[in-house]
Amino acid sequence: MKTVAIIPAGGTGKRMGSRLPKQYLSLAGFPILVHTLKPFQRSPLIDEIFLAVPKGDLTKIRRDVVATFHLSKVSRVLAGGRERQDSVWNALMHVRREHDIVLVHDGVRPFVSGEIIERAVAGAKESGAVATGVPIQDTVKRTDPAGTVTGTVSRDGLWSVQTPQAFRRDVILDAYKKAADDGFYGTDDASLVERMGIPVRMIPGHSDNIKVTIPEDLERGRRFFNGGTGMRIGFGYDSHRLVAARKLVLGGVPIPHEKGLLGHSDADVLIHAVCDAILGASGLGDIGRQFPDTDPAYRDISSLVLLDRVRTLTAENGYRIRNVDSSIVLEKPKLGAHLSEMAENIASVLRIPASQVSVKAKTNEGMGLVGAGEGAAAFAVSLIETDNNP
Ligand code: MG
Repeated sequence: MKTVAIIPAGGTGKRMGSRLPKQYLSLAGFPILVHTLKPFQRSPLIDEIFLAVPKGDLTKIRRDVVATFHLSKVSRVLAGGRERQDSVWNALMHVRREHDIVLVHDGVRPFVSGEIIERAVAGAKESGAVATGVPIQDTVKRTDPAGTVTGTVSRDGLWSVQTPQAFRRDVILDAYKKAADDGFYGTDDASLVERMGIPVRMIPGHSDNIKVTIPEDLERGRRFFNGGTGMRIGFGYDSHRLVAARKLVLGGVPIPHEKGLLGHSDADVLIHAVCDAILGASGLGDIGRQFPDTDPAYRDISSLVLLDRVRTLTAENGYRIRNVDSSIVLEKPKLGAHLSEMAENIASVLRIPASQVSVKAKTNEGMGLVGAGEGAAAFAVSLIETDNNP
């Protein structure tokens, strides 16, 4: 017997006030939808995932989400319907006899955990229909249309309902068929089962398992993935060979020398290490992923241009760069006189105060390939933080 998870992700993002539908917005370097799918991909209890997305996005989702992130359990990417319920109904048409349990989970609840999925599957096997949720903690009041309190509602037995919701196949299929026949639309899947007179049991979800609806939820999500502090550190390393007939450029400063660094761009080893530190902190991979050296657009380009793109990417992903520290390792020439200009170049491209950028220089004491003057290496770290105004 198999378990299938149906994930509707057909929203248009009107409430987020953004151009992109919210399931595609980036959170800690990945689309929200990818965060949502990963716990299902990882769970040993889930065999297949059916994903329902807007009709025009089918190809893009198959390529940029399912293939790119190796989501091998996504066996169907289907066109969603007008309402969420229509999307789930479309997906249910493809559920097979071997699927004994069907989970339904919102595409924009990226903080679902393996434990929650496990409880939902176990609950459905045991009692046929379960909904995840948390008991309401806040006092609940009812008001009239003018906002005046007309009563305090007892919160005994009240739950705030989340997904996943999980069902035995026959239970959810019967409920959706009946709802379709009656033209009934519910606010969740369990409500369709409830109106059949079938008991639905609540099982504990988690207060983190929110639906990303408003921009503040994205902010909360970044903190969730950052371990709560909103701060992230990144590390970068690079090395290039020193050869004749190339200019030596370090930190965007041309340095008089008989040799220069070999590379596809200007081979500014310091800037490359700084780019990697920032990209690493932002969860955006590295300079090779962002600017492939097979791309003629980057031939002999000033690495400061790459650094500027890294700054833009980082900002687009909701992060602000706080500081950079770095070291160049090079046997000769002496770099002391140029270090502050390098730091100023980096600070100016990153649009942070020069006091937040440090560039140091070392020799390798004659040891190894760098010591023999065959090349240069650079190391950098960068601290970035969640931008409060993404
Ligand atoms: Mg490099």
